Amino acid sequence: MPELPEVETFKRYLDATSLHQRIEGVDVRKAYILKDVTARKLARELKGRRFRSSRRHGKYLFVHADNHVWLRLHFGMTGSLEYFKNEEREPQHPRVLFVFANNHRLAFDDQRQFGQLGLLKDVDEFLKKRALGPDALEIDLGEFRKTLSKRHGGVKSILMNQQLIAGIGNIYADEILFRARMHPATEISHLGKKTVTKLFRATRCVLKKAIAAKADANKMPRSWLLSHQGKGGKCPRCGRKLRSAKIGGRTAWFCAHCQKQI
Ligand SMILES: [Zn+2]
Repeated sequence: MPELPEVETFKRYLDATSLHQRIEGVDVRKAYILKDVTARKLARELKGRRFRSSRRHGKYLFVHADNHVWLRLHFGMTGSLEYFKNEEREPQHPRVLFVFANNHRLAFDDQRQFGQLGLLKDVDEFLKKRALGPDALEIDLGEFRKTLSKRHGGVKSILMNQQLIAGIGNIYADEILFRARMHPATEISHLGKKTVTKLFRATRCVLKKAIAAKADANKMPRSWLLSHQGKGGKCPRCGRKLRSAKIGGRTAWFCAHCQKQI
């Protein structure tokens, strides 16, 4: 499920492939993923235009066209981007294709169709309407502390609450807590100042390293939880068997020895 590092990787991919080219057409294969826009309107707004820049906030990607319209992308569970020329390179589940003048296409591919694609005029207004918190890589320590103070609940649920901090989902929340050596069900109000700082540092470190690895699990450090989680997986730190539990409605993987509940 694409989280901040995946969406940042999509952003860089789009920036490197799809900016400044004339859009010849928009091929909507599944109107189901369109939100607040019809296929006809999407094509009308973007045909003859160029994408100029992009911006990410949490798990959202916004692409600015030169008529001041923003394309809004959310990758849901299985969304991704694929830029290609030859038909045989077309991905398996393209839902919308942007056709460029150089005959290349940018596909929004999404097998499970939980992704969303829309148009908007004002990104900040959209973020406000959705009541999204600051981006997990934009937030500074002071704001992080303020956001977490006076909160109650398990630390993992708090990290994943997009209205508090935007961008962290199930996988990276587990990784951050493993790095901070914190049990996912730890009550947030029990954390001291020093521990909150540790959590902040772990958050930045994990997200930045994941982006550097292009969000590719195979390129992430073996010392991380990610490649060890799953049945029979062992803690890369102490070698004990990893545990899983439903916490806040999601499956958390952790090492009960290394990650103590405070
Ligand atoms: Zn361990």
